[in-house]
Amino acid sequence: MIDFLEEVNKRKEDMIADIERLCRIPSVLDEATANDRQPFGKKCREALDEMLEIGRRDGFECEDVDGYAGHIDIGEQEEIFGILGHLDVVPCNKEGWNTDPYELTIKDGKLYGRGVADDKGPLIAGYYAAKIIHELELPVKMKMRIIFGCNEESGSHCVKYYFTKKPYPAMGFTPDAEFPVVYGEKAGVNFEITGEIEKDNIIGIYAGTRSNIVPEVCEVYVVGHYKQYKDSFMQYLSSHGLKGSLEEEGNHTKLILIGRSAHASTPELGINAATYMCHYLATISQNKLVQFVDQCFYKDHNGEKLDVAYKGLMGDLTVNLGVLNYKDGHVKMTVDMRVPHEVTDEQLTSAVVKHLKEYGLIETHKLGKALYIDPQSHFVQSLHNAYVEFTGDHENQPQAIGGGTYAKAMPNCVAFGVQFPGTDNKIHQNNEEIAIDDLLKATAIFAKAIYDLIKK
Ligand SMILES: [Zn+2]
Repeated sequence: MIDFLEEVNKRKEDMIADIERLCRIPSVLDEATANDRQPFGKKCREALDEMLEIGRRDGFECEDVDGYAGHIDIGEQEEIFGILGHLDVVPCNKEGWNTDPYELTIKDGKLYGRGVADDKGPLIAGYYAAKIIHELELPVKMKMRIIFGCNEESGSHCVKYYFTKKPYPAMGFTPDAEFPVVYGEKAGVNFEITGEIEKDNIIGIYAGTRSNIVPEVCEVYVVGHYKQYKDSFMQYLSSHGLKGSLEEEGNHTKLILIGRSAHASTPELGINAATYMCHYLATISQNKLVQFVDQCFYKDHNGEKLDVAYKGLMGDLTVNLGVLNYKDGHVKMTVDMRVPHEVTDEQLTSAVVKHLKEYGLIETHKLGKALYIDPQSHFVQSLHNAYVEFTGDHENQPQAIGGGTYAKAMPNCVAFGVQFPGTDNKIHQNNEEIAIDDLLKATAIFAKAIYDLIKK
């Protein structure tokens, strides 16, 4: 019986030192310094060089794929087991940090710094897991390839390019999400809806700036003195438990409705200010757009009214009206859907188009890729069992999510760690952190899981 945690503990100081090397580099996308050698800028290039240097130091074959991404090969076998992480980070607001985000700080058993949890720390954890299997000379049938991209945070152009040059591993995981394991990710799709409709008493409607967020505020300009709307609007707000206000703007009135924002993959957690506003506007206007939003989106997160609702192995299709813009007859809106893998583009589009036609609107969209690996498969079960072995957590099961992770970059890949259930690593926030014990435990889980999957 191999004690992977014991092996990880022996390498604790080395691991932390390597994370420190990577965290010191503010590897934020920087188009100003981008060129052929460094497509994502100088600092992303430096982080890539640093990771390659770590691999060379340990005597492994390393490859730089044109500054987009790189890999370290551990083992000589033909077949590849992939561990996919990323070296780029999101920018920091230094004022909000208690420590220098680019100087690794150890305090109360935790590491603090930009990238410690997303994704430099987890990448190093994956690297050490593979290194341990190698150093223990365990018999394996696949080589382990640590792949690291430099552009996960801004479109994953790194791995898109990398896989045009390098083969897909036979299987693998990305430690860029959470434990236990994500076996399914719905396909993302953005419908851009446009059109011209007949003008009426509504001058403009504005809500949201990003399709993947439930809009928190909706502002509307209507013709007429505010006294005309005051009673009915205030009555509407209070009867729906909403906040908002009216402002006098000459002969016009500005209506403001405040809802609650949420991520588009969980629209039920938000209150969509645009749909609630249109539900009110439908009582004072014949505007076609208002009718469309009211009849097709109000209080419906699953597309029942659009006839696209579907409950699959990964759960429900979700719908978020993220951006609503209307001015003088011109409509522009964006709808974000998270679609289970069983639904086809044709099924989805024909239903949506049918409704749009009624209101004289048109759409363009692109259906993304879904990811689904049978949660009962040997692959997913091995990962989950390794997680259970080191945590004793039988409660949290493999899950399907509406968001997209790095795992979509390659086939037979799932997101696996490293944020543990019930913890918050403050990913993308100030004071990003990870408990050293969690990082070590994650490394042991990875080593056990990889070994179970590739042993001879
Ligand atoms: Zn990440």
